[in-house]
Amino acid sequence: MHHNQPMTEENHRGVSMFPHLLRPLDLGFTTLPNRVLMGSMHTGLEDKARDYPKLAAYFARRAEGGAGLMVTGGITPNIRGWLSPFSGFLKYRFQVKRHKIVTSAVHAAGGKICMQILHAGRYGYHPFSVAPSAIQSPITPFKPKALTAGGVGKQIQDYVNTALLAQEAGYDGVEIMGSEGYLINEFLVTRTNKRHDDWGGSFEKRVRFALEITQRVREAVGKEFIIIFRLSMLDLVHQGSTWEETVDLGRQLQALGVTLINTGIGWHESRVPTIATLVPRAAFAWVTARMKATLDVPLIATNRINDPAVAESILAQGQADMVSMARPFLADPDFVKKARAGQPQRINTCIACNQACLDHVFKKQRATCLVNPLACYETEYVFKPAENPQKIAVVGAGPAGMSAAKTLAERGHQVTLFESSDALGGQFKLAAQIPGKAEFDNTIRYFQEEMQRHGVTIRLNTQATAGMLREFDQVVLATGVKPRVPPIPGINHPKVIVYNELIAGHRTAGDKVAIIGAGGIGFDVAELLSESNPAVYENPDAFCREWGIDTQVQTPGGLTEAKHAPSPREIWLLQRKTSKPGKTLGKTTGWIHRLSLRKRGVKTLSGVSYQKIDDAGLHLLKDEKPLLLPVDNVIVCAGQESVRDLLDELPANLPVHVIGGADKAGELDAKRAIRQGTLLGLRLDGSAGD
Ligand code: NAP
Ligand code: SF4
Repeated sequence: MHHNQPMTEENHRGVSMFPHLLRPLDLGFTTLPNRVLMGSMHTGLEDKARDYPKLAAYFARRAEGGAGLMVTGGITPNIRGWLSPFSGFLKYRFQVKRHKIVTSAVHAAGGKICMQILHAGRYGYHPFSVAPSAIQSPITPFKPKALTAGGVGKQIQDYVNTALLAQEAGYDGVEIMGSEGYLINEFLVTRTNKRHDDWGGSFEKRVRFALEITQRVREAVGKEFIIIFRLSMLDLVHQGSTWEETVDLGRQLQALGVTLINTGIGWHESRVPTIATLVPRAAFAWVTARMKATLDVPLIATNRINDPAVAESILAQGQADMVSMARPFLADPDFVKKARAGQPQRINTCIACNQACLDHVFKKQRATCLVNPLACYETEYVFKPAENPQKIAVVGAGPAGMSAAKTLAERGHQVTLFESSDALGGQFKLAAQIPGKAEFDNTIRYFQEEMQRHGVTIRLNTQATAGMLREFDQVVLATGVKPRVPPIPGINHPKVIVYNELIAGHRTAGDKVAIIGAGGIGFDVAELLSESNPAVYENPDAFCREWGIDTQVQTPGGLTEAKHAPSPREIWLLQRKTSKPGKTLGKTTGWIHRLSLRKRGVKTLSGVSYQKIDDAGLHLLKDEKPLLLPVDNVIVCAGQESVRDLLDELPANLPVHVIGGADKAGELDAKRAIRQGTLLGLRLDGSAGD
């Protein structure tokens, strides 16, 4: 619907800004309205039939927002291929009906959607997993069973069967998942394929599984059905494919009539970051560009593309024919619509934090988005204009306050936002100062744009008082947190710096530093103080050198020696708990921070107790023995306490809502803050007596 909308003046503006991105792609039997693929992303709604209406609403919303083509999360062809017990599979005709709910909703919204067929192979988190050889992966507790030759044939048959059922369900095509270290990828490389029969050994035998699936799926579905093959162009594990093998496979897939080839970067077990915030934008576009020199079939570039200008530049340089974005569509369903309207500044940018999407999926929770809590909850959190618009004060312009103010104003309330400092953002403003977290600034920019658009009165440098708040109908207290300063003897010594002063640049640290507290902020501060080459966060070449990615792809798998620049300071990161430091960090990103600090030579100590701080340094007890760290500075990162002094001063008859860190400092976390602010914003109304 939206793709076919008439060319308004606004749309012309978008097309002139992003001409390559918004150009249609003719696939012969069908035309995509633009070059944007909403890439596959597991949401957790794929697994149960009763969740399919929610899944349908989620995709329909993104079709309305203008995604050119979408791909579902992975659906397995059988139970052996499960990602985890009871994950979504499509093997029987009775399962087709639930998928029709999705395809008809998407088509009604004017979109196109492919179903991804994913067989997890040895990544299956269950005891029935199968693989080319019985070799356990380093990231799963189950050893797979080696497929017999008959079992291989059975898996191929199941792929074909699933593709046919997807066609029957009304999908516009399928994506065959051949990357990320799942079953097809496992057949391709000697790392995981040690077979001596027709399916292993020489390259010709290792690619046979991928080729046979593709050929037989094409024969079964006919010519006019999209087949995307997700090709692992860079495995980033040892004993992976060579570049020549990948090109050869690409050529053969092309000859078999795949419609599009999508890029896969890195197996899940790879210890190289590929999608986290610290990965520079478009850091892997060179891989697709390299492949483009040898293939004619349209290629799709992926990884850390989250902005229309970045996508436009990839396409304009001829590095790819389409770009894939998965998480950015959780963050903003209207990504394409806003680009087309020439308003990229209005896009709610994915900051690549993984905190509410992939980290949720790993915990078996429904995915959503830290910056957009409505994602995957489209049928539950519904936007309604306020019936009885009121005058509402929001105090504090951190993530909680900004999201509440934006949502309330969008619904028609008259909102004033008070902020005591000179800028918006709260803790997010600090986060954006951490090397590799510059994306966080985009969230502040997004909320600022939206608040202005919806007429929020923003009063910076204003300490709200009870007197000022009395004239409002309701008050939202989002006054945030202050750092906890533990009562260690000598805590007032001049060498002690509290983290916010350091990050904001009000104080600087010397050559030897101890960090008290190894939570999210302790790690952030260690990253800040150990960094000596800012280019690694911005420049793909510098990033690849640091993490040992061979941009010439001369090694099988594309790995070379990593060269982490050592820390310019001697740093100790400390905690009282005896557990491994960094345990509380996100599941999908914590390993990167732990690895990065270790490579830079940052020392971690657990199970310490703090004795005193004096001119000599920080005195500890470690394993009951005294230890002196002769440091120039001690940085305090010991968590936070809520700030809500105003609460006691406000009149009892004034409705007050406390959200974010002001509500609970112990779990201070932007995901909760934005969710709380947004949901309160959706709910408050005059008539409801809230
Ligand atoms: P935190 O994660 O709660 O960590 C606080 C640290 O201080 C802990 O390591 C704790 O370890 C120590 N501590 C607590 N009380 C102490 C005391 N009285 N004396 C000495 N040490 C004490 O808090 P945070 O690091 O400030 O982070 C706050 C929140 O920001 C996190 O919950 C997270 O959601 C968010 N964040 C996340 C990331 C990320 O990478 N995902 C990054 C930054 C911030 P011991 O008690 O063992 O000493
Ligand atoms: Fe992007 Fe973070 Fe949202 Fe995931 S949770 S979509 S990484 S902003």
